[in-house]
Amino acid sequence: MHFTGRTWRPPYEANSYIIQLTSGCTYNKCNFCNLYKNEPFCLSPLSEFEEDLAEIKKYQPNARRIFFTGANPFALSYEKIKPYVLTVRDYLIKCQTIAMFSSIRDIKNKEVWQLRKLRAMGVNGLSIGVESGDDETLLLANKGYTSQDILEQCQKLDEAGIEYYFVYMTGLAGKGNGYRNAINSAKLFSKLNPYFIHVDSLTLFRDTKLYQMAQKGEFIEAGEQERVKEMQHFIENLQIRTHLFANTVSNFYPVSAYLPKERAKVLDELEQVINTFTEEEMRTYRKGLKSLG
Ligand code: SF4
Repeated sequence: MHFTGRTWRPPYEANSYIIQLTSGCTYNKCNFCNLYKNEPFCLSPLSEFEEDLAEIKKYQPNARRIFFTGANPFALSYEKIKPYVLTVRDYLIKCQTIAMFSSIRDIKNKEVWQLRKLRAMGVNGLSIGVESGDDETLLLANKGYTSQDILEQCQKLDEAGIEYYFVYMTGLAGKGNGYRNAINSAKLFSKLNPYFIHVDSLTLFRDTKLYQMAQKGEFIEAGEQERVKEMQHFIENLQIRTHLFANTVSNFYPVSAYLPKERAKVLDELEQVINTFTEEEMRTYRKGLKSLG
């Protein structure tokens, strides 16, 4: 397999077969992110991609879902990504879905008819790290889009029938702003149809702009209790039927819930966390994090 760059897939794609379509990130400017800092965006040649498909076919001829690597392979234009998508079933005849990461910016370069065609070719399951639906937070994080962009671009996905998943990040708005971020994000997400929402919590890495801002006092980290409360407000105000997973290590307390059915139960659990652990105890947990895998 031709894996050259950092290979990063969401936890819920653990059963998908991973193939390198791209490496790196076309944007590389989010203030909290250091994932692809020294890795230019690169597209695998079709010949290499086919060799990898042949290798997957050899060991897993019945593969049903594959995942394209890279921070945002969906940045490729319709014409550029099409030959790769079409080639998948030449090798993996039973492949039903092709999933990948995408940014909101990457949907902008595609018309709804093009999205529909991609869907018909098997593209389904875009992981979108929107992080927030609150304009002040999006600006602070330098995500490069607004809440209106999220609304417009995801409505295109809804129209085309492409399933998508959101990532929300608690703590990203900084101290004292978690409530605003939660309410505005829940309001926006409630106008859309994310199949599920994956929640992470901000960890400041040294080689990021946000870390430098924190050193200069331009960004003040939210406390751990505030983050749990933010999650409560977020869950409380989500008015859609969706799954919520906050079960990776960056979350102090793992939560997974089917909303709205399990809303009351999960809000209760979070209340107990707030009443049981001190800020200090929760802070010690975050300091001990070695990786966010
Ligand atoms: S968060 Fe995603 S889009 Fe932003 S710089 Fe990191 S990899 Fe690129």
